[in-house]
Amino acid sequence: MSSTPLSVALTPDQRVRIAWSDGRTREYTVRQLRDGCPCAHCREARLHPKPPTLLPVLSPAELLPLKLAAMEPVGNYAYSIAFSDGHNTGIYTLEHLRELGSEVS
Ligand SMILES: [Zn+2]
Repeated sequence: MSSTPLSVALTPDQRVRIAWSDGRTREYTVRQLRDGCPCAHCREARLHPKPPTLLPVLSPAELLPLKLAAMEPVGNYAYSIAFSDGHNTGIYTLEHLRELGSEVS
């Protein structure tokens, strides 16, 4: 493992901010994390997107602003992230988190 989180915090505007041991800091919107979900279901959905429908129907959960419900360490290599839409099966490895979000100074 080349780089590990030194601190993980939620910013006032609901972004996850991770300071990494190599001195870099990345911020993640909840949407970036949700769209980057590595679970088998979401990977499959990204590979085979459903054709657009004429009248999209949003569930009540999808109409609410997406929020982080929980973010728990998994061993020392990943985080399990739960979202306010009820999705909680994504295990985000540290390598994957290094690719998501955007770097801040
Ligand atoms: Zn997922």
